[in-house]
Amino acid sequence: MREVPKEAEIPSHILMLRAGLIRMLSAGLYTHLPLGLRVIQKVSRIVREEMNGAGACEVLMPTLQPDTLWKQTGRWNDMGPELMRLQDRHERDFVLGPTHEEIITHLVASALSSYRDLPKNLYQIQTKFRDEVRPRFGVMRSREFIMKDAYSFDKDEAGCKSSYDDMYQAYDRIFKRCGLDCYPVAADTGVMGGSGSHEFMALADSGEAEIAVCKEANFAVNLEICEVPPVPAVEPNPSAPDAEVVDTPNKTTIEDVTAFLKKKPGELVKTLLFQGGEKVVAVLVRGDRDANPIKVGREMGCLVDLAEPGVVKEITGCEVGYAGPVGLKSDVEIWADPEVLAMEEMTTGANQTGRHILHVVAGRDFKPTRVADLRWAVPDDPCPEDPSKAIEVVRGIEVGQVFQLGTKYSEKLEATFQDEDGTSKPMIMGCYGIGVTRTVAAVIEQHHDEKGIVWPESVAPFHIHLLSLGTHMPEIVEACDKLAESLAEAGFEVLYDDRDERPGGKFKDADLMGIPWQVSIGKKSLEKGVCEITRRSSGERSEVSIEEAISFLKDRSNFQ
Ligand code: ATP
Ligand code: MG
Repeated sequence: MREVPKEAEIPSHILMLRAGLIRMLSAGLYTHLPLGLRVIQKVSRIVREEMNGAGACEVLMPTLQPDTLWKQTGRWNDMGPELMRLQDRHERDFVLGPTHEEIITHLVASALSSYRDLPKNLYQIQTKFRDEVRPRFGVMRSREFIMKDAYSFDKDEAGCKSSYDDMYQAYDRIFKRCGLDCYPVAADTGVMGGSGSHEFMALADSGEAEIAVCKEANFAVNLEICEVPPVPAVEPNPSAPDAEVVDTPNKTTIEDVTAFLKKKPGELVKTLLFQGGEKVVAVLVRGDRDANPIKVGREMGCLVDLAEPGVVKEITGCEVGYAGPVGLKSDVEIWADPEVLAMEEMTTGANQTGRHILHVVAGRDFKPTRVADLRWAVPDDPCPEDPSKAIEVVRGIEVGQVFQLGTKYSEKLEATFQDEDGTSKPMIMGCYGIGVTRTVAAVIEQHHDEKGIVWPESVAPFHIHLLSLGTHMPEIVEACDKLAESLAEAGFEVLYDDRDERPGGKFKDADLMGIPWQVSIGKKSLEKGVCEITRRSSGERSEVSIEEAISFLKDRSNFQ
């Protein structure tokens, strides 16, 4: 593709379109073209080898799934609008699988029944569907994508931990083999449920995930769950001035209020109403901080979201933007981040449209129900492992995730087994995902230059790009045809460019497609009996006699 659409912003998306790996059908839906499909197959092969090597067995489950199992686990509701739903001709509800815990657990419940059957680890490589709010970045966040998903079943926690460790190690090998600079970070367990989880993050500036790292303390977690070591509270100052309500007409944002009142954001306190199920709480964070919904959700014990404006109005009696802890409806709990209690006084909303309160003192003017770490960590916050060091925040692409699930699914779907002592127990589960198509995009993010893709040998669509630089000259055609054949016989995968195009254009395309070795024969080289061999990654060129081309390439490459 010469011109790519402007919504293609990141290198992998642009290069996948330009080099002819994918074509878009509509938002988040892509056709994988021959070159792109070959890379998917290479990645899948690595995944299969490592999964099989780790003792997992491949299966293939249906994508189309009846609603019943999803209703049994509660995820028919919990997954919300991301779950693709449809009806059959009898108006029965179905789901297009976004992940397969329900289906595999149902299978295992009926197929395995004794401790002797365990442990088991089953996996598949299959198309998943998720109705993402914002499909973007090409196959990085699409609505239909290929995932490898594995599920382990064990008889006890120790077994589950060991299955988890095996998968963790296998993931490490898989991503290394794909050429990714990738590292595991501790992660939130989200709607999957469960006790422990790691995400495998490929470092890239274009990554959507943020990772808190502290190299000195060997610490890396998803920023979503990065703890902030608490700061000590201050005692209320008895001689502090009284709270004072002031007019702040049409000033609803921190920027507007600070400019109007001539204050710094850190002197204000934000009051945000979060709702989880029926419960609404008021969350207080310093004005220069942001409340972290995942931390709020952990405190509440369920997924939370900012309350709708209607709910905010009902609780505060004012428009959105003026909520505050003073004089809030008494049945609404006030949860404060420790930093708020470290402020001698603060400016807050007044629960009156167009008004704020100055000189609010915690403990005197309002009493928090709970004090907890509720804000997003930011660069330079103290490291939770070693508070004398600071964290930095880097970006990454989540290419895989592993979870210790516990018994959430096995209990609900009755996947039990009879233990040695004759008692019936739920199996302990783990689940493990890899975004195969996202991995392809992540590899390109880490392996490209201004001319195009630079494939690592392990996942390159072909090994050798053979360029005929004289398709109108029978002797060149003959020499190239012959070389193509002998390279293939020697086990190389050859993409043979025999188009009637100018050499400049051919090399440009070859650089764009990024196949590790370019081998060309033109008029001059044929006269000398040589071909020109260029390594894409370094640009290093060599003239090699046509007879020696194969041994030259064999010596310098490591294709598997
Ligand atoms: P994200 O947080 O990026 O939405 P997720 O945590 O919801 O991803 P998982 O449920 O852990 O995703 O799925 C396993 C893997 O599938 C992810 O690690 C990722 O590589 C891949 N994946 C998830 N959603 C998408 C998507 N919309 N497009 C492409 N790959 C995806
Ligand atoms: Mg994930």
